[in-house]
Amino acid sequence: MSEETLTPMMQQYQSVRRTLPGETLLLFRLGDFYEMFFEDAKTASAILNVALTKRGQVPMCGVPYHAAEGYLAKLVKAGKRVAICDQVGEPQPGKIVRRELTQVISPGTVSDLNLLDAKRNNYLAAIHAHGGRYGFAFVDTTTGEFRLTELPDLPALEDELARVTPAEVLVSDQASGAKEPLPELPVAVECDGYAFLPEQAGFTLREHFKVQSLDGFGCSGMAAAIGAAGAILHYLKHQMRRSVSHLVKLSVYSHSGFMTVDAASQANLELVASRGAKDMSLLHALDRTITPMGGRLLRDWILHPLREVAPLTARQGVIAALLGESFLLSSVREALRGIRDIERTIGRLSQAGGNARDLMALRCSLEQLPDLRAHLAALLGRDEQPLAAQIHAEIGEFPALVALLAGAVVEEPPVSVKEGGIFRDGHDATLDELRAACRDGKEWIAQLQQREIETTGIKSLKVRFTSVFGYFIEVTKANLASVPEHYIRKQTTVNGERFITPELKEMEGRILGADERSKALEYELFVALRERVLDELEALQRTAAAIAQLDVLASLAEVARLFGYCRPVLHDGLRLEIRDGRHPVLDQSLAEEKFVPNDVRLDGAEERLHIITGPNMAGKSTYIRQVALIVLMAQIGSYVPATAAEVGLVDRIFTRVGASDDLSRGQSTFMVEMNETANILNNATERSLVILDEIGRGTSTFDGLSIAWSVAEYLHDAVKARTLFATHYQELTELAMTRPGVRNFNVAVREWNDQIVFLRKIVPGGADQSYGIQVARLAGLPGAVVARAKEILANLEQSELNADGKPKLAEASPRVSRPRKRGGEEDGERPQMAFF
Ligand code: ADP
Ligand code: MG
Repeated sequence: MSEETLTPMMQQYQSVRRTLPGETLLLFRLGDFYEMFFEDAKTASAILNVALTKRGQVPMCGVPYHAAEGYLAKLVKAGKRVAICDQVGEPQPGKIVRRELTQVISPGTVSDLNLLDAKRNNYLAAIHAHGGRYGFAFVDTTTGEFRLTELPDLPALEDELARVTPAEVLVSDQASGAKEPLPELPVAVECDGYAFLPEQAGFTLREHFKVQSLDGFGCSGMAAAIGAAGAILHYLKHQMRRSVSHLVKLSVYSHSGFMTVDAASQANLELVASRGAKDMSLLHALDRTITPMGGRLLRDWILHPLREVAPLTARQGVIAALLGESFLLSSVREALRGIRDIERTIGRLSQAGGNARDLMALRCSLEQLPDLRAHLAALLGRDEQPLAAQIHAEIGEFPALVALLAGAVVEEPPVSVKEGGIFRDGHDATLDELRAACRDGKEWIAQLQQREIETTGIKSLKVRFTSVFGYFIEVTKANLASVPEHYIRKQTTVNGERFITPELKEMEGRILGADERSKALEYELFVALRERVLDELEALQRTAAAIAQLDVLASLAEVARLFGYCRPVLHDGLRLEIRDGRHPVLDQSLAEEKFVPNDVRLDGAEERLHIITGPNMAGKSTYIRQVALIVLMAQIGSYVPATAAEVGLVDRIFTRVGASDDLSRGQSTFMVEMNETANILNNATERSLVILDEIGRGTSTFDGLSIAWSVAEYLHDAVKARTLFATHYQELTELAMTRPGVRNFNVAVREWNDQIVFLRKIVPGGADQSYGIQVARLAGLPGAVVARAKEILANLEQSELNADGKPKLAEASPRVSRPRKRGGEEDGERPQMAFF
């Protein structure tokens, strides 16, 4: 369609359309509907399940404007960006009504509480590759958090994306030509490449933060990260038309201080999300937080375990102190109960949004602070508590602000900020006068009815009000004869007539004028009060952050108390010892059985690699995951489900699950498994913890066994990481014969009348048999099949032995060592990775 053939309305549509970033659905107000056209209509009709129609050749679909909210929510939830174009002037005959973009909403920038998960941050991120590095920045527009970092390569970026899980990621529209590949992202949005150029982005950031240089934020020289952060600001301001004044701080972070948990391990260990319908994640098991800020921070801690002893013992210290005085723990948690989502409340207020209910919520939260600080102070008195002292210092009290808010805003303010009813009497003299005028006028009118009944003698005379006619006097048909001269007839109804008088109209004018003016004044007062709150923006944000920390620590203390956890001893050595460890999630959720605790001892030397065998369903996977989870918990500062624990801090946790044990990952699972295994062998260090579950299962038995075998050898000989290897390949137990650091364990079962009973206890030694046939019997395989399987097994077992009766596999296993990495040559030689 060329421009000339377009109707004026369509021309208007196209001109609005052109100002929007690509792939934005445009909802265009036409009368009582929001209409979508062209591709938008096709996309939206499918998501919203509304009819797709045609006007001429143009596909279109629409939703009623008064119900738009629900439809908008659906579109945004489906990952779409939505722009709303409203009618702004009055319609005039023969002229097209003026329309303007009023809102642009996208998954990364929603602020509607109904679309947000209170316990989860909603992030908008940007990626910019520059100079061989990846810049990564993200912002939560609802809380004001704004962070950036740089990552050395694509896998590191992918891991970071898995941790942050942004709802929307901005990439440069010039990125596809760049030499650094970008990850595949369903939530990517292409933006003007210009905004990402470090020079331009740096300017955007300096201008926003009103600084001469970005050095103060610690990001000088981080060109890639600056590119990403600048692009975010640009996008928010210019494309989303948002106020960004509440983004007052830019924080650089790096991963050197954190334990690395790559994306696959994060998923395998079900750290923050689990696969089934029931939430079996670690986060869910540990989350007894009370405030939304705390909920969000706990998630962040779980995804960012620490690697240094000092900050962890500081966290432990607060937990210990809270547990030491159980009434303190409960009173801190009680005080937290009154605190709402301060972060998001001030986020809304500072984006020129928010309403009097936000002010009210803020006041309620702030009122709790003196109490909370008093409890904290009691805790400080006991012994040295650097972290508690810091939290105590960072929580402000804001008495003046509380008094102001309490004196100003009524207890139950309305949602709207333009309809009055927000302020208490006595807050503002002018407002009081206007309200008095209103009240007096209404009083006068109320008395008017009585006066007129007396003067006219019409007993049924009524003074009434409708929004269309204003005030009037109503007289029934039977009494029309008694109506005085000065009454002016306005309208006839079924039962009678409606009149006005000049003095009634004058009073009405006064009342409505005063009412109008008082509403306008209340809005002004609201804006002023909001400004006053925002004067304390930084102190409020700092307070909210400190409360979040306290909430998380109190939550960890509460879980420790409820489930009898112990305080792990942390150090920089390689010893990892857990006595009576339990799986933190199953321990809470097992209903019928009681969880059977188990020990582990690894030291990176004599006890470096454990091979854990045992029949299916015995508890191998549970055991090795529980060790990883306990270590991770220790490294967020939590107490752990054990009677005693010593954790030599780990730099990375790697978890890999054999392909057939992990059905959720679709095709080519074996390739994925091998990729991930390669990643471990190349990146694990002596300080890492490696958890392998049935590696090698995704291919034929002999291939699989050979791979499992050589991977185990390599981990033992070359990588030297502390490793737990659960496998159903009993052959692997032979490794212990040739490798000093390998120990065999199995999960005990008792055989009873050819049945097996799972004891769930880890005991030294390899499993003597795999009991596959017994498990099959448990599952209900017919007796004849079970008997025949036994026969075949016996035959097979014979052929696995040499003539002298010794196992065949343990022969010929020379020591291997890891090729030393030399600059630039790393990719050329990976002899140990020859399996694909
Ligand atoms: P495997 O990996 O050996 O096949 P799993 O670790 O998957 O076995 O365990 C199977 C089931 O046994 C688990 O779902 C759990 O319900 C139960 N289980 C495992 N370990 C324990 C334990 N220590 N105490 C109680 N029940 C356990
Ligand atoms: Mg298993």
